[in-house]
Amino acid sequence: MADPTNLDLELERAADLLAGCTHNVVLTGAGISKESGIPTFRGPDGLWTKLGVPAMDGYQKFMENPRGWWEDRLAQDANPDPDMENFRVQLEAAEPNDGHRALAELERMGVVSHVITQNVDDLHRQGGTESLTEIHGNTSWMRCMACHARWPEAEIIVDPEDLPPRCSQCNGVVKSDGVMFGEPIPPYALQRSQLEALQCDLFMIIGTTAQVYPAAEFPQIAVRRGVPLIEIDPDPTALTAIAAVILRGPAGELLPRLVEAVRERQAV
Ligand code: NAD
Ligand code: ZN
Repeated sequence: MADPTNLDLELERAADLLAGCTHNVVLTGAGISKESGIPTFRGPDGLWTKLGVPAMDGYQKFMENPRGWWEDRLAQDANPDPDMENFRVQLEAAEPNDGHRALAELERMGVVSHVITQNVDDLHRQGGTESLTEIHGNTSWMRCMACHARWPEAEIIVDPEDLPPRCSQCNGVVKSDGVMFGEPIPPYALQRSQLEALQCDLFMIIGTTAQVYPAAEFPQIAVRRGVPLIEIDPDPTALTAIAAVILRGPAGELLPRLVEAVRERQAV
């Protein structure tokens, strides 16, 4: 039974599970990037709590009129909405924190096999994680809607006279890689995540309320297979009731402590 009030004990239990596992899959959410200065969407300081939830038909609008969507985007770039601009500046200025770096270290130590992130901020990659699925895409990347090729934004030439930009490989329409409301998760990301949930023998969730689907389904697939779940979050989540180990606190403090505890076990 997890005892979230006894952090030291829960850390020991988490380290035991990590040191003994062969395929640990991690699902991260906005919380792991909070210590990098990026606000979460929900919660007291959340962007949506302040601004309201954005329109749910973003993807439909894009598909109806990709050219119009690109024109709006270029117009916003020229004349940005202050609150959204603030979020974008925070995203662009953000750097990986101790949590991202510790997670990459756990991968190098052989106790994290794959990270599925809901974040669009590129910080896991910048922090050194290699085996990564960005299930909601990456706002600093672009994607072809036809062949699913992906490129860093800087590699795409956007000609305002010839919108939307087209894929150099198949001439498909190019869109921001960030998954919009109403947009299906790209099939390669969905399939990889499902496969990981079916293969793992340990699952960790870090900094996610586990309210957004299908992402929140992956830890549940694992738990239904009898796999233990470790939760790292300062507050309870939708999956707290099924977590075997609960670490209450910020990821930037707890993940480096886990690295140390696992290292001690590996040294024996
Ligand atoms: P969420 O905003 O619903 O939940 C954030 C969770 O993080 C909460 O459970 C909160 O208690 C926890 N948290 C807060 N501070 C923390 C810390 N220091 N360490 C660890 N956990 C902490 O986030 P979500 O579940 O990821 O869902 C939000 C959706 O919005 C996602 O789908 C994601 O794509 C998107 N989003 C992304 C970013 C980003 O890329 N950084 C930021 C905001 C939202
Ligand atoms: Zn293409």
